[in-house]
Amino acid sequence: MNNNMSKRVSVRKNNLSKFFIFIVLTVIVGVITFGFCGYLNNLQILKDKDAKAQQQKQINILLAAKRKSPVFITLPGAKPIKALVDDYSKADSIWTIVSKTHPISIDYAPTDLKIPDVATRTDKSKDEQSVRSVVLTPLKNMFDAAASNGHNLMIGSGYRSAAMQKVYYDNLVSSVGEETANQAIAKPGQSEHQTGLAVDISTLSRNCYLDQCFATTADGLWLANNSYKFGFILRYPSGSEAVTGYQYEPWHFRYVGLDLATALHESNLTLDQAWPYLLKADATLRNNGAI
Ligand SMILES: [Zn+2]
Repeated sequence: MNNNMSKRVSVRKNNLSKFFIFIVLTVIVGVITFGFCGYLNNLQILKDKDAKAQQQKQINILLAAKRKSPVFITLPGAKPIKALVDDYSKADSIWTIVSKTHPISIDYAPTDLKIPDVATRTDKSKDEQSVRSVVLTPLKNMFDAAASNGHNLMIGSGYRSAAMQKVYYDNLVSSVGEETANQAIAKPGQSEHQTGLAVDISTLSRNCYLDQCFATTADGLWLANNSYKFGFILRYPSGSEAVTGYQYEPWHFRYVGLDLATALHESNLTLDQAWPYLLKADATLRNNGAI
């Protein structure tokens, strides 16, 4: 091999080496660039995730605040009250309504019935002497307050199952006829007594027992004027027959809790008339996710 040939071979080898190095460098730069882009991309994904998590956290805080924000009910002529956080359409809500137009299932029975620590008619069944647990203390407090004012009260009827209501209803229908009976007694599924939140109250002497003359007795007057202070309302007032669907019953009291009983007392509305206000509050609570 002469000098020229060996020089050419050496130049070719040199070019091949450079080309090889170029390829290797290109691959390395490519890999680094690709890796770096991937890293940036991952970083962006993490940032986006973090931003989304922060956003969701803010939304959750706002939703929780909305859920907890109180809803107020203002009945005409009454001070605003905080709406009970409950589904009033359920028979076990203390704000439920049961009437001829709002019947409940005849299968409904409260699960927390107890005989209150007050005078009851012991000749009646244990069920009929009982009320829901939530009523026990307010009832005892009311009876104690009445006694300290000289009124010795007694429960005539507390809880009544739909089956028992049917017995009372059928008996009255057979003695006075259906039309008259419907004004005086509820059909099964239409009686508040089935909720365990209603009580017929008399006195130990049974003076004017389940009779409208009870309204004129000192005991009846005391109950009408003071029951709201313990969370009870006179459910079927005089002159409200067209609204409530029942005749005046100065002995029938329904537990709704102190706030609503006070607002109903101040507004002079029946539960039936207040019902649209309660429904509106119930819808707001539902909309807020509180119930
Ligand atoms: Zn009653």
